[in-house]
Amino acid sequence: MRTAIAGIICAALVYIPTAYASNDNPVRFTIDMTGPSTDTFLVSVDVPRLGKNNNIYQFASTAPGAYQVMDIGRFVADFRAYDARGRQIEVTQVQTNQFRIERPKKVRRITYKVAETWDTPVRENPIYQMAGSSLEKDHALLNIHTLLGFFHGMQDADMEIGLVYPQDWIVGTALNSGEGGRLFAPDFDFAVDSPILLGRLTVSSMDIGGKKVEIFTYSKTDLIKSSDLMNEMRDVFIATNKFVGGFPIDRYVLLFHFEDQNVGAWEHSYSSEYVLKETPLNEAYVNLINGVAAHEIFHMITPLHLHSEVIRQFNFVTPSPSQHLWLYEGVTEWASDMIMLRGGLITLEEFFSEISEKLSIDEIHDKEMSLQRLARLAFTEEGRTQYGNIYNRGALVPMLMDILLLEKSGGKRGLREVILELSKKYGSENPFSEEEFFDEFVAMTHPEMRLLIDRHVKGAWPLPIEEYFAKLGIRYSSVVFYEDSIPDRGHGIQFDGQKMVVTEVRERSEREGLKEGDVVVAINDIAISRENFPELVGILQGIQPGDTVTYTVERAEGAVKLDLTVGIQRRSQRHVFDVMEDASPQKVALRDAWMRRLE
Ligand SMILES: [Zn+2]
Repeated sequence: MRTAIAGIICAALVYIPTAYASNDNPVRFTIDMTGPSTDTFLVSVDVPRLGKNNNIYQFASTAPGAYQVMDIGRFVADFRAYDARGRQIEVTQVQTNQFRIERPKKVRRITYKVAETWDTPVRENPIYQMAGSSLEKDHALLNIHTLLGFFHGMQDADMEIGLVYPQDWIVGTALNSGEGGRLFAPDFDFAVDSPILLGRLTVSSMDIGGKKVEIFTYSKTDLIKSSDLMNEMRDVFIATNKFVGGFPIDRYVLLFHFEDQNVGAWEHSYSSEYVLKETPLNEAYVNLINGVAAHEIFHMITPLHLHSEVIRQFNFVTPSPSQHLWLYEGVTEWASDMIMLRGGLITLEEFFSEISEKLSIDEIHDKEMSLQRLARLAFTEEGRTQYGNIYNRGALVPMLMDILLLEKSGGKRGLREVILELSKKYGSENPFSEEEFFDEFVAMTHPEMRLLIDRHVKGAWPLPIEEYFAKLGIRYSSVVFYEDSIPDRGHGIQFDGQKMVVTEVRERSEREGLKEGDVVVAINDIAISRENFPELVGILQGIQPGDTVTYTVERAEGAVKLDLTVGIQRRSQRHVFDVMEDASPQKVALRDAWMRRLE
């Protein structure tokens, strides 16, 4: 069900709170949302005393966990610096994201305009909506890295952020506020880690195990209210709280933005943000939202309380990846599935279709790309095309680890227990060693864990799904054939909205002249086009064994017409799981331990 969400992106490189000396001279920002243009934020900065090395005002080139080039400097205009008497000081834009102030010691105030990322067209590198900014008549979404910057050498300076907005707007954020609603952050990273949603919002809060969970919702036509979401999500909060042995933070905020598109969610340390389509909250949609929320909230454990030294500090200019993305994102995605199953939020059958879908998505990714390599390449073009598999194979590997650990401990100490032990050992302040973590993980679990890591995290071996699920008395079949038959076209086709291309040509179609890679320009003389698409789908879905369909394909020698006959094949299904009725008592006991309800 999660494919409805095109990209769930996560801040794997989250803000890690560190002990910081309180600064008497915070940088005071004001973000004005009441300017003449609804697409532009007006920013002013009251500058504390700058030294000569603080002469660069830096905008973000990227942000934690977004794994994309953002270059916020692209959205900035009219950047000006002033001295104490209001006289302008010379400023030079030395790079897309850097403004150099010529006499930094004199500067007292900076002003600039920054366009919202949602509605501002860009030629390349569009920014994920949940990581961007939006300003409309009745609401705004603020991700601080898209609006504010920092002076070089002062990334860790205290920040005070004032917001100017229409009087009736409500503000939702995990940031603490003080007098006049000014928001505080101990440094730039913390501010970036805490998005702000404001406008015509509904609000709901609930106590979950002694911790406060708050929901703020913007819904375009007021269809979805925070109280509705709270009712629907209460059980997933309770299940997640149980799964992690009690939330490690006191307050958690969920920001929901319901409008025209399902885009995804972005997780932060103390909050998460969801950009979703405004449609009625039916059961399937609630399941989807709950699954994503379980994932985002589990990030409280990893990476927030379990991470390597590599991700401890975020570099907004040149971020460096950690090889342990399998842990931050893979284990988290696995945990969200187990929370849903063990929390009784989905049935075992629904769980099976979830992993079946993950196996199918894994198949369309690069089979040679290990999870370790995927992590290391995350910021590159090659890595970006494969990144989505961290939520598929990345979640299946921890599933194998969990089964192994439960088997070796008589059902007592699975992956959940090990991860919670580790998060207590390390916590938010104390990173593990990027290089030695695998060894530690094996040492504290079981020697056989080494094999799983070598083959399926460092390597890209086929996953032993059948062998591992058999331990639980669950049969896995990569394909199941049924008794009944369905029409067989004899080849596959892919349609990207413009072009229809032939794939997987089987024997009969090959005999009839079709070739893999043929571009189909017409079917039964109806041209392939977006407008004709419904009619074409009707033809392809209506075929019966014995029918003939005429394809016009484009070849070097010109258009060629091919009459293709429809055959017959047995109906089949990929990646099928079912419970073995004759499983041994030992396997049944392990299965019970594996799916036992959270207490
Ligand atoms: Zn995530």
